[in-house]
Amino acid sequence: MRDEINLRSYGKINLCLDVVRRREDGYHEVRMVMQTVGLYDKLKLRRTREPGIRIRTNLPFLPTGPGNLVHRAAGLLMEEFHIEGGIHVDLYKKIPVAAGMAGGSSNAAAVLVGLNRMFRLGLSKKELMDRGLKLGADVPYCIMRGTALAEGIGEKLSPLPPMPDCHILLAKPPVSVSTKFVYGNLRADALESHPDVDGMIRALEAGSLEETAARMGNVLETVTVPAYPQIQAIKDRMMEAGAMMSLMSGSGPTVFGIFRGQEEAARAGRLIRREGIARQIYTVRPYNSRNKAGGNDGAIQGKRE
Ligand code: ATP
Repeated sequence: MRDEINLRSYGKINLCLDVVRRREDGYHEVRMVMQTVGLYDKLKLRRTREPGIRIRTNLPFLPTGPGNLVHRAAGLLMEEFHIEGGIHVDLYKKIPVAAGMAGGSSNAAAVLVGLNRMFRLGLSKKELMDRGLKLGADVPYCIMRGTALAEGIGEKLSPLPPMPDCHILLAKPPVSVSTKFVYGNLRADALESHPDVDGMIRALEAGSLEETAARMGNVLETVTVPAYPQIQAIKDRMMEAGAMMSLMSGSGPTVFGIFRGQEEAARAGRLIRREGIARQIYTVRPYNSRNKAGGNDGAIQGKRE
């Protein structure tokens, strides 16, 4: 058994996000194309003699008790497997919080994977993903990573061909958006248009970045953009600076832009920073572990612009 383990917990963006319908139980049925990006939080898990789950983080406003998904993920496995002693987690966050990048879900996923390894619990990826779903709809995807189609409430996952390599500019305006607020205010039955998810799948199969970018769309923009005009301003600035496409990720407010070159993406980031419409700004590349041959293993941490 290992006493200590270091993990990376990657963020995601939604290349496509469509809501198919609102179910009677209030959940929304979605069709999303998910993409892991090279911006990650760092977690260090350490076994302790004294029982309990302790969390230390660089963000003082985050809960460190059961309100933190890291705590819930650790509690879930420690209870089920009657793990003795305790666990200490150092959480160094870089993924913007409440931003549409699934930071919390990704941290939970990392803890499940890490404890499985640390205590040799012998759970398969599928078994970890089943447990992850109890913590949140995006957690199974965060265990799987890469490019994937997510259906149902986000838990039905099918791997897709990796997104063609490119440079992605991430910019989060200084507002926090609650996912609940966005879905609660979505008029799923009155949406005027839907993104072409199937077209995007074909574009990924063809390996075309242009076609992939052309099919990006997110129906949640109909709620979040009118509520936070900074989002539209960031999208416009990215397009003016030469992005192939710019879109809000998840329920927002993070906006991403697709660029061919790193310098182009960085320049757009500098423009946005100067204007003061976003503070957390990073350039990243798509992360696909199955795509290592392409020279893109996501090993480079997203660069702060
Ligand atoms: P999603 O894309 O799944 O909607 P998000 O990016 O909108 O996720 P998170 O960053 O995961 O949102 O966090 C949302 C809320 O969850 C925050 O308000 C935060 O207080 C709480 N939270 C609990 N645990 C964590 C964690 N480990 N990291 C970040 N936020 C956490």
